Amino acid sequence: MNRFCDYKSCQYFNKQPSIEQRSKLNKVMCPLCMNANYCSNRCRDLDWPIYHKEICKKSQPDRARSCNDTIDSCSTTSVRRKAEEFEIISIGSKLELGRGSYGSVKLVKDKQNGLLYAMKIMNKRQVFEYCSVENLKREIKIQRRLVHPHICKLHHYFEDKENVYLILEYAQNGSLFNYIKKRSKLPENEAFVYFFQTCLGIDYLHKNKIIHRDLKPENLLLDHEGNIKICDFGWSAESLTEKRMTFCGTYEYMAPEMLNKQPHDFSLDVWSLGILLYELLHGNAPYRGKNNEELGNKIKSGQPINFALTLSNDVVSLIKSILKYIPGERLTMNQIFEHPWMVKHASNYNIEIQTYVYKTQNPTRQIPTANFQSKQKSIDIQKKEPLSRPISQDQNKLKEQSNNYKPYQNDYKQEEFNKPRISRISNRNEIMMHQHQLQQQQQEEKLSFMDRVFLAFGCLNREKK
Ligand code: AMP
Repeated sequence: MNRFCDYKSCQYFNKQPSIEQRSKLNKVMCPLCMNANYCSNRCRDLDWPIYHKEICKKSQPDRARSCNDTIDSCSTTSVRRKAEEFEIISIGSKLELGRGSYGSVKLVKDKQNGLLYAMKIMNKRQVFEYCSVENLKREIKIQRRLVHPHICKLHHYFEDKENVYLILEYAQNGSLFNYIKKRSKLPENEAFVYFFQTCLGIDYLHKNKIIHRDLKPENLLLDHEGNIKICDFGWSAESLTEKRMTFCGTYEYMAPEMLNKQPHDFSLDVWSLGILLYELLHGNAPYRGKNNEELGNKIKSGQPINFALTLSNDVVSLIKSILKYIPGERLTMNQIFEHPWMVKHASNYNIEIQTYVYKTQNPTRQIPTANFQSKQKSIDIQKKEPLSRPISQDQNKLKEQSNNYKPYQNDYKQEEFNKPRISRISNRNEIMMHQHQLQQQQQEEKLSFMDRVFLAFGCLNREKK
């Protein structure tokens, strides 16, 4: 029988839709084997992990087509390149710069011009199985048009039968996350540089109507001079007029409106900037929990956070004005740039903030960076300003000023927050996990009547998650 939809739980598995119904349906195929047909993306996504995966995997490799159509829909002007045009460079005994959830990142040399890049290699099956083609498409579509000194540049992208390749600007000094873990926490003058550079990149994104939505130190890389390069645009969204709804990001950095499943806008990234500044100065994010639920509840409760008593009043005031529960009350990017703490540190570096804002070229006067990793001792500014003010003076002022804030306490195990935090998985992956759960329960005959109905119709009982 020539089925209209190959998903067993779909109403069109055994029945053909009427002409009117057909006109509303958007037929799709499995992009890997091209052997299964569905009435919608949703049925395709629900069918694959449960029923189709095994059949799909057995399909002949030469019959399996690439997901060219999906990636190509955003490739308009990219110069066609091939993986063979890049030579893989090993660093010592290491063949990889790092590993992501669906592939590896390698250091490569372009054989045409000898320049070094990071090549992100994503296996198509893994992208389809564990992530989302939509996220990858979005990542490429957005990142390829961004040009800013603090945004990791996507130079080329291409694909072969097995993989999708992204040729990215090489960030030699790894992630800010690893750097913070190495240093445990940063003094204010150093935190300023990383925070300021991240703000410049985020401000550029916002002015281009893009919300990053997964800002965290793991997604901030450091180039050869230690300058920030914002990366990972898998969860980014273009926000023109209406607010966005997708539940995404990483729990520690999620704003209350995201956790409350309310619409969000650019102020979502501003919240994450507040968390970032806190983490730079304390070595860990302000809200933590034994699991995501506990962590999410703490953020949603809007409970006050604890600050280290050694911090200046100015930086505490900046973080507090960013981490406002109500998005509309948070500082705007301009207000962040104008905050006294920012102005004071900029003047210590002899720079004027506004000459850096929304500049797509490196300004002639570079901040004498950020490469605290190698130049730490020689940085002039550290002589001008003590790393932190004398504790006794600060403690008294802070106690007087903010009775709401308990002294900062580090009550979590170090190893817990040495692990990089995982971004929230794709919707598709979540559906897949939920369906597996329901199937297992069904086998155990513990499934309620309503769950059986939900399962039969391929629907989710979100409360069950
Ligand atoms: P990702 O798949 O983007 O999460 O990347 C995995 C790891 O690869 C990161 O944690 C980095 O250590 C490394 N990496 C990713 N992109 C780059 C890059 N452009 N330059 C250098 N290393 C990178």
